[in-house]
Amino acid sequence: MTTTNSINSNSQFETNIENSLLNKYGMNILNTPFVSDDDIQLGLGERYIIVEKLLEAHEFAKINVLAGNITGRGFATNVCTVDRAWSMGTNFNNTRNDISSICGERSAILASYNEALLRYSRRPRGKFDFKIKYLCMASNIDLEEITEMIAPCEDCLSWLNTNRYFNFNTLVFSFERIKGEFVVRASRLASFLPYKTYATSNEFDFNKEIRFSKNSQVSFVKFKLEPKDALNLLFEAYKKYDKNEFVGVSNQNIAAAIISNDEIYSSCKIDWTKRWHVEPLEEAASRAIEKFGKETQIKAIAYFGDEASANNGEIYNDGVVSIKSLGRIRQKYATNDTLLILNFHNYILITTIGEYLPKKFEQGYKIS
Ligand SMILES: [Zn+2]
Repeated sequence: MTTTNSINSNSQFETNIENSLLNKYGMNILNTPFVSDDDIQLGLGERYIIVEKLLEAHEFAKINVLAGNITGRGFATNVCTVDRAWSMGTNFNNTRNDISSICGERSAILASYNEALLRYSRRPRGKFDFKIKYLCMASNIDLEEITEMIAPCEDCLSWLNTNRYFNFNTLVFSFERIKGEFVVRASRLASFLPYKTYATSNEFDFNKEIRFSKNSQVSFVKFKLEPKDALNLLFEAYKKYDKNEFVGVSNQNIAAAIISNDEIYSSCKIDWTKRWHVEPLEEAASRAIEKFGKETQIKAIAYFGDEASANNGEIYNDGVVSIKSLGRIRQKYATNDTLLILNFHNYILITTIGEYLPKKFEQGYKIS
């Protein structure tokens, strides 16, 4: 295994290359392009380490499948912290349903956190500062067969859309093939989460400025809706939010309203315990699905949640839309064209699911 320090001298670099995974796979770092839509600068030594770590994760994902992982699919992630410690994790599935499944990247983050805490416990000086610098994601698919990049799923994105352990410098890497060429795709985590910095508001105002995204106009025409319908839907969500008496455990309140077919369904968050709750979007969507069955067409979603708060430089966006639920209903009943109405400070944003969660983050979606 290569570490940062070991590539400082040329002779050691050459020895490492000889024993490297790149060498094993007949790859040369000079012929392995890094591509990105973001502005990312990486030196040769750094790119070498990243490819090694991607290959290591690829082998780990393969082993996971060979060892009999229940889903028959293998993913693994190599995580690097800002203080240059690497940890690896693979998808963990102990039954076939999602409650007992954890993806490779979350598994790696947990491994990394536990190892960092263990290091800290041996030398507890200063503040424990755990931040993720890189996520190197790979699957068990043979390198020759790889086409699309691997992107975090919406469950993982809902983890990553937080500020404590990730920041705007966190980078995500994956192999990809573009027009026959095998490349490494580099992305800034922040570009996966375009509205990460937007602060939600808990005040409803019909006279607030409305901002329309590029694609929202097309969706209004497609679904035969008007901006006033969007505003009314947000008001329905607000009413549920305002009257919600079921969040006395977490004290984190959210409500959602949807237009499905031609009816409005709204729901508020219901707490079971401090961490476990009924998610209002999924609840509202379920009621529509029960009524309209396969004909269910979710045209618009409005979210209304708590005010964003800050503490010691960390932002808590407790009232933000659930990426996890959006990802789920986008698979069926809603589409990327579905309107999404969000209540921020000073303005209301009318966008679409596809713009909020860009297509490239759908699993298996090819980047255009
Ligand atoms: Zn995931």
